[in-house]
Amino acid sequence: MILTVVGCAGSVPGPDAVCSCYLLEHDGFRLLLDAGTGAAGPLQRFADPRALDAAVISHGHRDHCADLVPLAYIRHHRGPSPRLPVIAPAEEAAPPGHEYAFDWRTPPPAPFALGPFTVETAPVRHSVPALGVRVTVGGRTLAYSGDTGECPEVLELARDADIFLCEAAASVQTPGAAETHLTPAQAGDLAKRADAEHLVLTHLRPWADTAAALNEARQSYDGPITLAAPGLRVIA
Ligand SMILES: [Zn+2]
Repeated sequence: MILTVVGCAGSVPGPDAVCSCYLLEHDGFRLLLDAGTGAAGPLQRFADPRALDAAVISHGHRDHCADLVPLAYIRHHRGPSPRLPVIAPAEEAAPPGHEYAFDWRTPPPAPFALGPFTVETAPVRHSVPALGVRVTVGGRTLAYSGDTGECPEVLELARDADIFLCEAAASVQTPGAAETHLTPAQAGDLAKRADAEHLVLTHLRPWADTAAALNEARQSYDGPITLAAPGLRVIA
């Protein structure tokens, strides 16, 4: 599978990156993980929004789902496009007025198929109901933390993952944030305990010290670490 980072900024867009949005492709199937603020623009560099096959939305914060609305607009007005299957936490609903564009689904309790992918979700620890995601195809696995504090579920999702796409929005400079977000050090520690092959740090806020974040993550994880950036492609 091919992971393309469309956007990776935490909380708000920055000068160089829109908010969380990741494209996973395999055998021509295009699965979107999150569609945060601003993502519908740069997404068009990598895929025609009408050619998306499914999406998983980790939770209802704007930096993870706001651009479902422009995606609906593009798919409808440049259409025709079928309703996009969207898996999201049960507490969330399709954006009001745009229900026509989405086949809105709650995550099944067991791993399920989306095209060639086997997808597993688990509730993670955030300020609103949120999902972590594990996607497997051809024996290769990508785990995505969504937004979460430390919890057993995110560790299990990341177990032996070839790519662990892990948020690191919290920092020691923002006390309390680590309840609902991970610090880079925690992301590194999770990658180590999960025995993940490759840690991709993401969802840093635009003002974060990226060098310090990488350094923090390296304290516990000695595998390869990549900082997510728009256009980054990782093949698993
Ligand atoms: Zn969030």
